Amino acid sequence: MTSPCIFCEIIAGRQPTELLYQDDLVTAFNDRFPKAPVHILVIPNKHLDSINSLSDEYQLTISRLILTARQLAYDKGLSEDGYRLVINTGPNAGQSVHHLHVHLLGGKAMPLMGG
Ligand code: IMP
Repeated sequence: MTSPCIFCEIIAGRQPTELLYQDDLVTAFNDRFPKAPVHILVIPNKHLDSINSLSDEYQLTISRLILTARQLAYDKGLSEDGYRLVINTGPNAGQSVHHLHVHLLGGKAMPLMGG
């Protein structure tokens, strides 16, 4: 038997987690192992493995993911200093949870990409 998706468990309320935001399409909560002072995950309520699972029918979900991450960045006071949005996809990117998620990272200077 395969283990249940941990992010689906959070959305279903079976994995106690403080939700920072939730609507009909997306849910946001703090990363359990934060890599920055602000480290929030924004996920679609519907299980989608990764960006590779997306199609045109998910356009509203995709825009909601990004706009929710931006709103949370603003709410956390990150708009001036900046923040990073990351979507790891597949093994080379180190995707470890196979439920699409946007990382919102901020509150410190981060290394330049490829630096
Ligand atoms: P990935 O490496 O891009 O797949 O990111 C998965 C993220 O999920 C990691 O940053 C983990 O720390 C985080 N994570 C794993 N399990 C949980 C959990 O139960 N609650 C919140 N975050 C989690």
